[in-house]
Amino acid sequence: MTEINQIVPNTEENAARCRCPNCPVYNECMDNKNERLFCSRGSSGCGLEKRGCLCLHCPNEIEYRLNSFFYCQKGAATEKNVASKTLK
Ligand code: SF4
Ligand code: SF4
Repeated sequence: MTEINQIVPNTEENAARCRCPNCPVYNECMDNKNERLFCSRGSSGCGLEKRGCLCLHCPNEIEYRLNSFFYCQKGAATEKNVASKTLK
């Protein structure tokens, strides 16, 4: 399956680094479906309650220079979620 302009590669390594399973938003439905890595795989198919987000502390957020969060609701990161390349 090829994603359009995928910013974060959908790899097992990136899934293992994902902080979602430790997040207060992460719920039983997500766990049952083994959902995670929403910044790459897209939004959750489960209902959710926004109460905080650990994305900003995630190694993938840093490595791929993302500047957003709540990907479980908003869907996969896009180019507009990547910090300017002029920032160091
Ligand atoms: S940025 Fe958020 S959704 Fe993406 S891997 Fe990290 S914790 Fe998961
Ligand atoms: S995307 Fe953010 S809010 Fe959603 S489950 Fe992952 S860390 Fe939590």
